[in-house]
Amino acid sequence: MPASYEVAVIGRGLIGSAAARHLAEAGHKVVVIGPDEPPDRRTSQGPFCSHPDEGRITRIAGRTRVWSELAARSIARYTDIANRSGIEFHSTCGLVSSSPKISEWLENSELAGGKARAVDTDWVAAETGISLTNGHPVLYEGAPAGYINPRRLVNAQTNLVEQAHGLVIRESASTLTEGLDGYQIDGDCGSLTAERVLVTTGAFGSELLNRPLDLRRMPRTTVTAEMSIDGDLPSLICVDPPDNRLEEIYWVPPVRYPDGRIALKIGGNLRGSEPVTQEALTQWFQSDGDPIEVEALKNSLLGLLPGVEIISWAQKPCVVTNTSTDHPYIGWVESGVAVALGGCGAAAKSSDELGRLAAELFNSENWNDSLPSSAFDPIFS
Ligand SMILES: Cc1cc2nc3c(=O)[nH]c(=O)nc-3n(C[C@H](O)[C@H](O)[C@H](O)COP(=O)(O)OP(=O)(O)OC[C@H]3O[C@@H](n4cnc5c(N)ncnc54)[C@H](O)[C@@H]3O)c2cc1C
Repeated sequence: MPASYEVAVIGRGLIGSAAARHLAEAGHKVVVIGPDEPPDRRTSQGPFCSHPDEGRITRIAGRTRVWSELAARSIARYTDIANRSGIEFHSTCGLVSSSPKISEWLENSELAGGKARAVDTDWVAAETGISLTNGHPVLYEGAPAGYINPRRLVNAQTNLVEQAHGLVIRESASTLTEGLDGYQIDGDCGSLTAERVLVTTGAFGSELLNRPLDLRRMPRTTVTAEMSIDGDLPSLICVDPPDNRLEEIYWVPPVRYPDGRIALKIGGNLRGSEPVTQEALTQWFQSDGDPIEVEALKNSLLGLLPGVEIISWAQKPCVVTNTSTDHPYIGWVESGVAVALGGCGAAAKSSDELGRLAAELFNSENWNDSLPSSAFDPIFS
């Protein structure tokens, strides 16, 4: 007889580990199923995650009111998560952002209780050494904006699931089948049953759902630059960066990577990039990414930090999972199966609140939140 749970969370990334924590701490009998990062991405068959990194920007200023509120609520809980798990994951180096939409970001920040303020390019150059020449307005958001370590946040959430007596299975699931008393889950995770299921498998796992969701898996290449630089840099988001093959770039300031390098990570969106098909996903994660994107990111970094000395470069592929609404999908997709999917390249910082909202689906029949459920409605393709 397979082991039985009230709720199974499939996918132990940023959102799934957070949802499992909230469910376990609310007293549900929970299992969370999901592998650790593959030890060697070049030979692994997946599934892969979108958080295999040492830095993800965190900020309250966001592109919609919903994103700003999600971030503010999550950031308010970072200290509690770190204290109770014993795992630190947050650095408060601040954020500079330059975009034509800065006035909207500032408004969204203020509504969510953030402290972002308008600054000019001279201030940015004097305070940070960053040279912004795109002509767009600029904001600065001080602490608690900065970055989080996503790997450590997943570990912290997983630790708290276990503290709350949830079961953690560090393997993947390959099938989800409806039975008489709920759902049967099978795969490397073994065989188990659950009354209800939450699917949080990021870019992967579409085979677990009966109807495909409208998700666009966008291939992204990131570059890390080991550099010598005086002083501390803030996180950065810059629309229309120096290399105009990119729509936007962001960076996380220098942090230590597992290979020992202390490096700044830069990524962005290549203009006209197309989604990667489900079939090609694994091959993409095994690759070196896109050489054109790499070149454009390097040029942008050198333009934004004039005179910087780069000691070494490295590059890596990743995937951003976009929805058709520009907000994650959180809701029921069939009787007993809910999803929390589609981070839209912005969910790491807000993953704790996204996980909490998903967990709430299992606590109450009604949506009881000031954020409208319609912002998160799953859309089928
Ligand atoms: C390059 C890059 C830079 C980013 N920068 C930022 C940033 O600066 N700030 C920010 O807030 N956000 C950022 N993001 C977005 C953020 O990382 C994602 O939104 C976030 O990781 C999404 O969380 P998730 O839980 O949906 O997916 P993931 O974190 O990918 O987790 C999904 C998990 O499900 C598992 N899984 C898949 N299939 C199965 C299966 N069949 N069985 C069991 N488990 C399965 C995977 O192994 C994975 O661990 C960035 C994303 C990328 C790719």
